[in-house]
Amino acid sequence: MDSPPDPRGFAVRRSAPRLNRAFALLWFAAVTVPVLGVTGAGVASWHAVQGEAETQMDRTVELLRQNALRALGTQEAILAATSRATAGRAPEELREDAELHRLLADLAASAAPVISGVLVADAAARIVSASWEYPARPVDLSDRDYVEVLRDPARQRAVGAPVISRPMGWPIIPVARRAPMPPGGDAPGFVVSSFSADAIAEFYASVAEAPGDLVALVRDDGVVLARHPPIDIVDAVGLREGVAALLAPLLRNAGTAIWLRSPFDGLERLFVARPVGDWPLAVAYGLDRAALTRSWRQRMVAPGAGGLAAMGLLLVLTATAQRGARRQREQAESRAEAEAQLARAGRAAAIGLLAAGLAHDVKNLVQSVRSGARLMQRRAAEPEEVRRCAELLGDAAERGGKLVDSMLAFARGGSAPDAPAPPLEVGRALSDLADLLGRTLGSGLRVRALLPPGLPPARGDRAGFEAAVVNLAANARDAMPGGGTVTIAAWIEDLEEPVEDAGLRPGRYVVAAVRDTGIGMDPDTLARVGEPFFTTKGIGLGTGLGLATVRGFCARAGGALRIESTPGRGTTAAMWLPVA
Ligand code: ADP
Ligand code: MG
Repeated sequence: MDSPPDPRGFAVRRSAPRLNRAFALLWFAAVTVPVLGVTGAGVASWHAVQGEAETQMDRTVELLRQNALRALGTQEAILAATSRATAGRAPEELREDAELHRLLADLAASAAPVISGVLVADAAARIVSASWEYPARPVDLSDRDYVEVLRDPARQRAVGAPVISRPMGWPIIPVARRAPMPPGGDAPGFVVSSFSADAIAEFYASVAEAPGDLVALVRDDGVVLARHPPIDIVDAVGLREGVAALLAPLLRNAGTAIWLRSPFDGLERLFVARPVGDWPLAVAYGLDRAALTRSWRQRMVAPGAGGLAAMGLLLVLTATAQRGARRQREQAESRAEAEAQLARAGRAAAIGLLAAGLAHDVKNLVQSVRSGARLMQRRAAEPEEVRRCAELLGDAAERGGKLVDSMLAFARGGSAPDAPAPPLEVGRALSDLADLLGRTLGSGLRVRALLPPGLPPARGDRAGFEAAVVNLAANARDAMPGGGTVTIAAWIEDLEEPVEDAGLRPGRYVVAAVRDTGIGMDPDTLARVGEPFFTTKGIGLGTGLGLATVRGFCARAGGALRIESTPGRGTTAAMWLPVA
């Protein structure tokens, strides 16, 4: 029985790529599954963090809005009181009015430090009375933006851009109102009350939660009136267009958070803004992205660690599984190699056995040829006798020819192990073998064949089958030292239920059995037969490979070897082979 040039390499090449692909997938999964899990958790918790931040910011912005409304309400009250005190009076008169100065000083003091000063100006925007000094210096305010706005008679009030107060020298945010004077005149004057920009900035600083967070009061045209962290007044006016562009979408979706990049410090923040009553103002809160990321990262510590642990575990499991699979493959390869060796040894043993029997037979034939020839020489004169001898010689030659033919057929059986095996004709093979074995097993032994016609073909290769039958017959012969009958039989079995201990599945089987009436086996021997190298025969007599070979052949065909034996009565060894 030939084998592929390198069965090990052959097997590796055939099975390795599929296995490697499976493990590549497993490795891939061991990494991606935890990564996907952690990524999912990350996205979810980022949304959660942002959602919570938005809720918090919403509350803060509402607080800012109410605060601004209250401060502006105070402004309105002050401006109304001032307007009442100046209504219908000429600027010259007001300039001399110490009482008015005291009123302005009292009003400013009542709202300090948020309100830093109150003043009255004439139609030319020159100060006529102020809360901080008496008499007031006639400082010219005509270049202030609120003066420009209030020159439009449709406008009653205006909030000015932050400026450095000319009379006082610190930053203020003026809120102004038109005051008609003098009586019957057509040129209006102004009453102005100013927020202290520093006081507002201080309050905003106390509202900001993280160092990068932004709190701001912004005018509709984009001028930032107050802000924490603080900015330069010049920047506040210069960058108003950029701010207005950012503010517009925020106010369109008031209450919705939007990611924006500040034109002042370039930081990205999550913003919420709200308009302040019917004033042309809005309050805004911006949450520093870094702060948000920080709290998200803190939240991700646990799932991240869990993901890493899962990945580590999966990687270790995969590595272990791959090592196990490799070991299994190697074991399977060496098992296959051992089985192939066993089958070769079994077949060699069978051929050896047959050759020995054959030699014996040929010797007998040669013996009868020799005596026939001698007889012919002696009785050359008797034609009748010569013809009889010639017939005998012819018979002997015929038998010799048949013997050689069947031996050649047996030897050819194992010549092409890789070719697709034709279905095994159990009946044909057994009757041929019965013939061969009858001649070769030895004197004193009869070989009987019980073969019903019409047996279906079975699974298994013919060479392996023949070697198996010869090995079983050899065991039968060994079990009957005093001679006897070896019965070779075959029949069909239908299994409804699986036979667990034999490893047989339900289905139709062709059973090929060799039966003897020999010494039989005790249960201990019966339990061990088929184990390679288990033999009860003496050194040089048994190899312990015969039944191992037979069992291997049956298993390869998808069947099983089942042995029944009674000590002193005999043994039946049956090969169950599935129908092809
Ligand atoms: P070997 O024939 O070389 O000993 P086998 O594997 O063919 O190896 O058989 C193993 C053992 O099983 C034999 O040594 C014998 O004890 C027992 N055995 C096998 N077949 C029979 C049989 N037909 N009758 C009695 N014993 C048997
Ligand atoms: Mg044997």
